[in-house]
Amino acid sequence: MNKPLDLKEVMIDQATLAKRLRQETFGEVMTDSASRGRYATDASIYQAMPVAVFVPKTAEDIATAIQIAAELGVPVLPRGGGTSQCGQTTGAALVIDNSKYFRNVLDLNLNQGYVEVEPGIVLDHLNGSLKQHGLWYPVDVSTAGQATIGGMAGNNSCGSRSIAYGNMVHNVLGINAWLANGQIAEFGNYANSAGVARQLGDFVKGLANTLQPEIEAHFPKVLRRVAGYNLDIFHPQSELPYTQDGSVNLSHLLVGSEGTLAYFKSLKLKLAPLPKHKVLGIVNFASFYKAMDSAQHIVKLGPTAVELVDRTMIDLARSNPSFKKTIETALIDHTAQTPEAILLVEFSGEAHAPLLEKIMALQELMGDLGLPGSVVSMPDASLQKNLWEVRKAGLNIMMSLKGDGKPVSFIEDCAVPLESLADYTQALTDVFSKYGSRGTWYAHASVGTLHVRPILDMRRDGAQKMRAVAEEASALVRKYKGAYSGEHGDGLCRGEWISWQFGPKITEALTEIKHAFDPQGLFNPGKIINPPKMDDASNFRFSPSYQVIPLQPALDWSAWNVQNNPVTEETTAPGTGGDPAMGLAKAVEMCNNNGHCRKFDAEVMCPSYRVTRDEKHLTRGRANTLRLALSNQLDIKDETSPLGSDAIKEVMELCVSCKACRRECPTGVDMAKMKIEFLSAYKKRVGHSLRDLAVAYLPKYAGTISSIPLLPVILNLRNHIAPIAKLQEWIMGISAQRSLPIWKGNTFWSKPKAIAPYQFSPEALSNQPGVVLLADTFNAYFEDENLQAAITVLTAAGYRIHIPHKSQNKAKNKEQNTCSKEFCCGRTYLAAGMVDKAKETLGELIDHLAPYAQMNIPIIGLEPSCLFTLKDEALVMGFGERAVTVSQQAQLLEEFLASKAKAGKLNLQLKAASKPVLFHGHCHQKSFAAVTPAMELLKLIPNAEPQLIESSCCGMAGSFGYEAEHIEVSKQMAEASLLPSIRKLPDSWVVADGTSCRHQIADGTQREAVHIARILAAHLSVE
Ligand SMILES: Cc1cc2nc3c(=O)[nH]c(=O)nc-3n(C[C@H](O)[C@H](O)[C@H](O)COP(=O)(O)OP(=O)(O)OC[C@H]3O[C@@H](n4cnc5c(N)ncnc54)[C@H](O)[C@@H]3O)c2cc1C
Ligand code: SF4
Ligand code: SF4
Repeated sequence: MNKPLDLKEVMIDQATLAKRLRQETFGEVMTDSASRGRYATDASIYQAMPVAVFVPKTAEDIATAIQIAAELGVPVLPRGGGTSQCGQTTGAALVIDNSKYFRNVLDLNLNQGYVEVEPGIVLDHLNGSLKQHGLWYPVDVSTAGQATIGGMAGNNSCGSRSIAYGNMVHNVLGINAWLANGQIAEFGNYANSAGVARQLGDFVKGLANTLQPEIEAHFPKVLRRVAGYNLDIFHPQSELPYTQDGSVNLSHLLVGSEGTLAYFKSLKLKLAPLPKHKVLGIVNFASFYKAMDSAQHIVKLGPTAVELVDRTMIDLARSNPSFKKTIETALIDHTAQTPEAILLVEFSGEAHAPLLEKIMALQELMGDLGLPGSVVSMPDASLQKNLWEVRKAGLNIMMSLKGDGKPVSFIEDCAVPLESLADYTQALTDVFSKYGSRGTWYAHASVGTLHVRPILDMRRDGAQKMRAVAEEASALVRKYKGAYSGEHGDGLCRGEWISWQFGPKITEALTEIKHAFDPQGLFNPGKIINPPKMDDASNFRFSPSYQVIPLQPALDWSAWNVQNNPVTEETTAPGTGGDPAMGLAKAVEMCNNNGHCRKFDAEVMCPSYRVTRDEKHLTRGRANTLRLALSNQLDIKDETSPLGSDAIKEVMELCVSCKACRRECPTGVDMAKMKIEFLSAYKKRVGHSLRDLAVAYLPKYAGTISSIPLLPVILNLRNHIAPIAKLQEWIMGISAQRSLPIWKGNTFWSKPKAIAPYQFSPEALSNQPGVVLLADTFNAYFEDENLQAAITVLTAAGYRIHIPHKSQNKAKNKEQNTCSKEFCCGRTYLAAGMVDKAKETLGELIDHLAPYAQMNIPIIGLEPSCLFTLKDEALVMGFGERAVTVSQQAQLLEEFLASKAKAGKLNLQLKAASKPVLFHGHCHQKSFAAVTPAMELLKLIPNAEPQLIESSCCGMAGSFGYEAEHIEVSKQMAEASLLPSIRKLPDSWVVADGTSCRHQIADGTQREAVHIARILAAHLSVE
């Protein structure tokens, strides 16, 4: 059985804690099992149920919470992004989330080059605000978009450029923190310190002086050592001094303390000038050993980064069409065999010319080392940026391995001196093969910290293998005088190795420090001091006792229901993974909690979190809640179906099914499909509302409404007479603030004769090229001008058009064609959780399209959400090969035309645009990489100079934005960037392919956005 996630065994009065927090603070207090479960994990293999979760709004809230916890004897665990890899952010404690409300810059001193911030500010946001001043905070962790400064200080985090800038400990100037008794202390320069900070400093100094010989003997002399407390502040051992002037800074004792000594209130950080220029020299190696051996020589040239990418990762990138070109820019000869490794050597500085000289010096050095001609010089900034992206993506591909075996992080940041790096990596590779696993190496060669994750199955023999590999790795680290914990901290994974690293006397001193700071032992217990064994399965997220409830999902998840081979990474056949939930649980378990979905600036994921900043509105929060529900770890009252429970409803409520996670989540967690599963189960439990039915059956009844004289006019009165809209809101929950799409009597389908020319059977194509054009409900009934425009453009380009219509099938099957004559993709049914109905209607469409697809006739759609149903959900609905064939031909109008243009086969005469063009991509369009073709196509219009609006979801998301309970969130999503960008350019074309996107733009800016077909048609010089 799974470990019960309840508090029965914990002698803590949760109710009193929650009551007092609610009464005495303004913060959000959560005690239900789902909320606590969402904070039970970080990016490690561990899980521990918090006592309660607290999201404070003010500093006083935190002080009060610490006070209450002390009085009740409840442990306290501060949390930022929760992206730690070692379990330091998991614990049976009152978990306090700083990331929602503590995001402010408190003081920026440009003259003295420092900034003071609250602990919950995210690194990228801080650096975004510093850019205008030509400054940055240079501890550039890979999780810069999610990691908070508090969490980075808690872990003593290190960035790719640590060789130039050092770790957190080298870049923190001071910390104001609450102690366990609620008292605030200022930790900074020791000589100037006073009060309790001074007393604690004196105490630590006494210990350090007594233990000086031990410190000198046991503290590794490498830059990357983050284990234990920094007792060496008084007797520096780091390769790079903690302070420039040799003074002692007491805040450095707190850096890396993982929430065990004090709770950071604010942090003062040292800033660095933002380098004006960067160049990259990429060294190609035919031998991995040689690459590792060269690092020690390369660093002498003064690079700001030396990063490794090994052959496995290069090959992964080369096999991916989107990365192939970029990775090959790093290769000396892309026609030759892939090199065993490449080192990305970056030089940065104020002027470009000296950096080019550095590249020449690198080339010379490699010649001296016996590798002449092995360096690719990359002075171009955009090429460099692309290459760094590919490096990151390589890791993502590695992490997306399906099956129970996963790349596990536990020895992935051991740091060894550079002169031993080659021998160390060679020896560790041998250890992996001894235990039937393999490692892909990457990252920080400059500082001897290479990331490597052997694939382990923690539900089976993973723990034993982890122990065995760790023991052997530690022996190697000792042999080469390295640091066992060199980047990611101690947590539950490396806590037991602290005494191994430092010996009993220093370990005892660390315990004394902990006692001096936190006599009750309430700050993050079990971390650094008295840690558990790393392989204690009772702390695992997936232990051998983990079980999934049997379940029949509505969609086909068998592709996830597989196991893998840890050496070859090959997976077994779909459906053979042994998942009682038929693959759904394994798909959910793909979330490894890395927190990448906590994004705000780039791309789309996750729009709901961007608005609320609540963990439950994050893809990770959703995946965790689903995982806990499917493994029966939630206290679910409505027993009928954990999948359709209220706990899952709460997390799915604001998921707009934008499909961004499907593409942007490094492990491909596809929450939009999971939402369909939820809706299917939930609606079976509670039934469908009138609004559900109105949305779901729209394609069925749209034809009837438009065909009854005057009915469209009457229905449209709702948009003009407020009481009708109010009444509709009251009855159906459709927001009165929204205008509804306008019904028409004269639609695309009302002119059967007009569409007659657009019919041909697949076999009937002669010499003229032909395409199938889908007339979806929205573009046929509400905006038929888009369909007409598409017909005009395709005809002008010389294509014969077939528009699917059931009249064709009528002769074949008289039973069809009862209510509606049009085919439909079933999207509206899926949105209402009516999977069977969606299968029925989509099945008909697939049947109709399959013969065209088999003849390689392109199937073109205008509405992204409809078209991409053919490429996405249709493949998991049991339609078999015919759906695959159809999906291969399915494409948006712009994808089709842009591909023809690229091939030099598009014959469209377009006249010049008279005003600028703004383009907003529909979420599904972004998810399926179909924005670039739209931009390429728009560029064919002379003078158009299209600009892409950098936006997440428009907030409308099908029916979401019309729903009364979601209208405010919907507007906030739109206001995040889309609407302000449009307002900035009042005299421009606004192009948006999504019906609901256009509606949101019209409602929010009173501007008309047009489908791409219309702007093309408007610029045809010969119509
Ligand atoms: C894919 C991936 C890549 C990563 N890359 C890097 C990397 O390049 N370099 C690197 O160093 N790490 C890396 N990490 C680890 C992790 O992202 C970093 O350590 C990050 O700095 C943690 O920030 P966070 O806000 O998520 O902290 P959390 O995980 O929330 O917290 C970290 C620790 O700090 C403590 N803490 C948080 N807030 C406070 C506070 N106010 N007061 C006192 N203690 C506090 C917590 O209790 C915890 O012990 C990576 C992780 C992942 C998943
Ligand atoms: S949902 Fe994806 S991006 Fe978010 S934490 Fe999980 S794995 Fe990472
Ligand atoms: S589908 Fe969109 S809203 Fe839903 S979890 Fe994924 S990114 Fe978030």
